[in-house]
Amino acid sequence: MAVTRTFSIIKPDATRRNLTGGVTKMLEEAGLRVVASKRIHMTREQAEGFYAVHKERPFFQDLVAFMISGPVVVQVLEGEDAVSRNREVMGATNPENAAEGTIRKTYAESIEANSVHGSDSEENAATEIAFFFKPEEIVG
Ligand code: UDP
Repeated sequence: MAVTRTFSIIKPDATRRNLTGGVTKMLEEAGLRVVASKRIHMTREQAEGFYAVHKERPFFQDLVAFMISGPVVVQVLEGEDAVSRNREVMGATNPENAAEGTIRKTYAESIEANSVHGSDSEENAATEIAFFFKPEEIVG
């Protein structure tokens, strides 16, 4: 299988509870390597732009407010089949449905405050990586 990249966010509920290390450890144990990382506080414009695909969904405004409620850690992850490997270790969107041993089962507070974001396709991964990182900030 090919080595590919995906995009991850450690969300404000996780940074607030000092779980940056805990989440990253689970990503690394799943075979993913952090090749870029920065801690930022998203602006409303950034959060709305990032989640533009969800703008007609009922949870959009709450989601944006949550994502700007504290710092996040944006990361580029590299590994074999990185997108699906990351989705696997993240677990289901709603932590109540997430499998044992996944990040969301372990750490998430709710369907909204669910600790991590991960790209859902290689195409979206490329778009999301470019939204937050310049090529020279990614060091594989
Ligand atoms: N979300 C929410 N309520 C919902 C569904 C989703 O607040 O009913 C939030 C949640 O933080 C989720 C994000 O919106 O991670 C994006 O939703 P998506 O369906 O893309 O889930 P994901 O790909 O993150 O599992």
